[in-house]
Formats: sequence, C-alpha cells, structure tokens
Amino acid sequence: MKLNKLTKEEERVIVGKGTEFPFTGEYDNFWKPGTYVCRRCEAPLYRSDDKFNAHCGWPSFDKEIKGAVKRIPDKDGARTEIQCAKCGAHLGHVFEGEGFTARDTRHCVNSISLKFIPKEDEKDGR
Ligand SMILES: [Zn+2]
Repeated sequence: MKLNKLTKEEERVIVGKGTEFPFTGEYDNFWKPGTYVCRRCEAPLYRSDDKFNAHCGWPSFDKEIKGAVKRIPDKDGARTEIQCAKCGAHLGHVFEGEGFTARDTRHCVNSISLKFIPKEDEKDGR
C-alpha cells in the first residue's frame, strides 16, 4: 500500500488520533461536488452528496462509501471512532440518534484526514 507522506499536523490527527480545532478545517464549509478520499492512502471514503451541515465545526456525512470506513468503539464506550478501512487512518467519530438527517447518522470527520477530489477530476475506477 502506498501511503502519502504526512505533515506534522496531519500526523497528529491521522496517526495520533487528534482532533483539529472546530470551524478551522478546509472542508467544514465546503460544498463542491466530488469525492473525499483518505489523506494518507487515497481510498475513497465519502461522497459530497452525503455531506450535510451539522454546524458542529467539522465536515459531517450521514453515509460512508460502502466498506470504506471502520468503526471502533472507544475504550470507555462513550464514542465510536471511525478509521479508514484500508490504512487505519483516524478520521473522527460517528454518532447516531441525533436526528440531523433521515439516516440519523453523523460521521464527524477531521478535514485534515480527507482530501477532496472534484467531480471533473475523478479518474475511472474511483
Ligand atoms: Zn487510508
């Protein structure tokens, strides 16, 4: 598996399971059509169609690309971590039962864990 080299801040979040400061991420208020891939391994994770505004300060999605995201309960059982299923990069946390959308699921994802691929630039096979 080819992994992109990470900056210090990317490494803090993606490897160290950190959280970027709310309302600062490049995709928090960003609504272009396309696909969000893993910043580290570029596996497609989320589609712009499933992004919604939860006003929480981080990009929110109510659905992942099938099989792309792994859910891991935190040790204290309080939250469920989400990771890239391919490379294990920390993405954020997933919450259910908040009533934001019909799917009632919010993937709260750090912008820095993602890379946006605009629709027109998508290659075959993505
Ligand atoms: Zn990955």
